[in-house]
Amino acid sequence: MTGATPPDRDPLALYAIGLGSNRRHARFGDPRQVLMAALAALEADDIEPVDASPIVATAPLGPSRRRFANAAVLVASSLSPPEMLARLKAIEAAFGRRTGQRWSARTLDLDILLWSGGAWSDGDLTIPHPAMTARAFVLDPLATVAPGWRHPIAARSIRQLAARLRRPRPANSADALY
Ligand code: AMP
Repeated sequence: MTGATPPDRDPLALYAIGLGSNRRHARFGDPRQVLMAALAALEADDIEPVDASPIVATAPLGPSRRRFANAAVLVASSLSPPEMLARLKAIEAAFGRRTGQRWSARTLDLDILLWSGGAWSDGDLTIPHPAMTARAFVLDPLATVAPGWRHPIAARSIRQLAARLRRPRPANSADALY
C-alpha cells in the first residue's frame, strides 16, 4: 500500500491493575496459580500487558485466616476507565469471585490502582484506588513495575508511598490516608 493514511486509533492509556487472591480455584490451583491464570486472562486485543510484578505471598488482613497472593501489572489499553472496570469484573466473575462479605475468601480480586489520565471518580469507580496508599501488599508489588509513577492525589511517587508504609511510626499517629 502506498500513500494510505493509517486509520485513526484511540491513544492508549496506561493502567496499573492490582491482583489478589486468597482462595484455591478448582481448576487453576492455589492463589499464586490463580494470579498466573488471571494475568493470562487480562491479555486481550484491547489490553496489552506492559510489565508484571513478581507474585508476592502476604499475611491475611482482617479475620480471614487465609494467605493472600498479590501482584500488580501495567497494561496499555484503549478502554475507558468504566470499560476497564467492566472487563475486570467480568474476569473476576469468570473466576468465581464471591461477592458479599467484605473479608470473605476471594478467588480473584482485580482493582484499578492508577490510570495515566490521572484521577477519575463516579458512583462506581474511584481512581486512584482509595485504599492503595495504606496497603503494603498493593504498594510493594506496584513499586516493582511503576516506582516513579506519581500518585496524583498524594503527590508522591509509588516508591515514596511504599517506603512511607515501612517506616516505623509512633502508636496512635493519625496519619491521613493521603
Ligand atoms: P471490592 O469488593 O472492595 O473489590 O470492591 C469492588 C467494587 O468497588 C466494584 O464493584 C467497583 O464498583 C468499586 N470500585 C471503586 N473504585 C474501584 C477501583 N479503582 N477498582 C476496582 N473497583 C473499584
